[in-house]
Amino acid sequence: MNPLYARMGTTIFEAMSARARETGAINLGQGFADGRGPEAVLQAAAKAVVERSNQYPPMLGLPELRHAVADHYARHQGLNLAAEEVVVTSGATEALAAAIFACVSPGDEVICFQPLYDAYVPLIRQAGGVPKFVRLQPPEWKIDRAALEAAASGRTRVLILNNPLNPAATMCGADELAMLADFCVAHDLIAICDEVWEHVTFDGARHLPLIGFPGMRERTVKIGSAGKIFALTGFKVGWMCAAPAIARVLSKAHQFLTFTTPPNLQWAVAEGLATQDGWVQEARHRFQHGRDRLRAGLAAAGFAVLPSAATYFLSVDLAASGIPLDDVAFANRLIDEAGVACIPVSAFYAEQPVTSVARFCFVKEDATLDAAIARIAEAR
Ligand code: PMP
Ligand code: GLN
Repeated sequence: MNPLYARMGTTIFEAMSARARETGAINLGQGFADGRGPEAVLQAAAKAVVERSNQYPPMLGLPELRHAVADHYARHQGLNLAAEEVVVTSGATEALAAAIFACVSPGDEVICFQPLYDAYVPLIRQAGGVPKFVRLQPPEWKIDRAALEAAASGRTRVLILNNPLNPAATMCGADELAMLADFCVAHDLIAICDEVWEHVTFDGARHLPLIGFPGMRERTVKIGSAGKIFALTGFKVGWMCAAPAIARVLSKAHQFLTFTTPPNLQWAVAEGLATQDGWVQEARHRFQHGRDRLRAGLAAAGFAVLPSAATYFLSVDLAASGIPLDDVAFANRLIDEAGVACIPVSAFYAEQPVTSVARFCFVKEDATLDAAIARIAEAR
């Protein structure tokens, strides 16, 4: 057996959701929305499954979807991607695996930021790479050039950036991205940019993609997910965008991971990208309303709530809230005694975890949020 996997626990998202399913707890842990997503996308998926081909689509993705992704980014982010530079994957999770397997060779060092999404480190290690961590500090979680330089060496090949950042719920500003671009060019790095939260931004803030910064067009893999854009996390339709020389290598990794993705879902997402900008805009307002409701409810219950500028999540600082438990003990107590699931943020660290922050998902109906707030306040 591969010791990397034999020693590994189950991802916190599945572990907490499984406990919520078993106990009937309100699940504010794993990030998924209430509601059905855009009706037009569901109808397109249903129609395609009965009326169109259900055989293997092209390995790189349906041309309709590759074009729709390129058009979408031209419209929303001013990027000039060609459809040929888009490789469709089974969710961003597969894109991350393909990008890391394609870009990281044994012995290569990979710079990543902590807190980090829990898939990154196992994938880097599976590729034979060596993760080098740069730590971001709450409540700002800003990237410091000196810390980046300290993490770099002659063996550094790749930098992984999650922007907007899960679980910190922050977004990189233009200055920070310009600095990162300069750093990647100076050290001749490939940037793998996990931008699954690019449309889930609040208070009028707009996402800026690193691939649009000077020197990055030829050295960036931009990863996106329809699961987040349309709040359809079960669809598992994602993509990676990169200049042709990189995209060719990405596709070699992709072909032996999943090879392809169900065609009806690809058609439905293509249709959604072309026609559902209004839904995405409306969902952003709805999600912001959920954020404000949960933030107010938790603050009224005496929690120190950290800012949330993006993503489906906000976090509370347990120590600053006067709660004498670490995040894992708090999450266990909350699910057992209050019937509410959350995510301990220490799960987003590979070393020296921050243990005083718990994350809650707020993209739920008002009644669900209110019931959760009442339970949390009572158990406090
Ligand atoms: N990256 C990040 C930062 C995420 O938060 C998630 C899931 N929410 C993913 C990747 C996985 O996306 P997908 O469901 O499209 O595989
Ligand atoms: N990214 C989601 C979250 O942060 C979980 C995704 C998963 O469960 N694989 O909650």
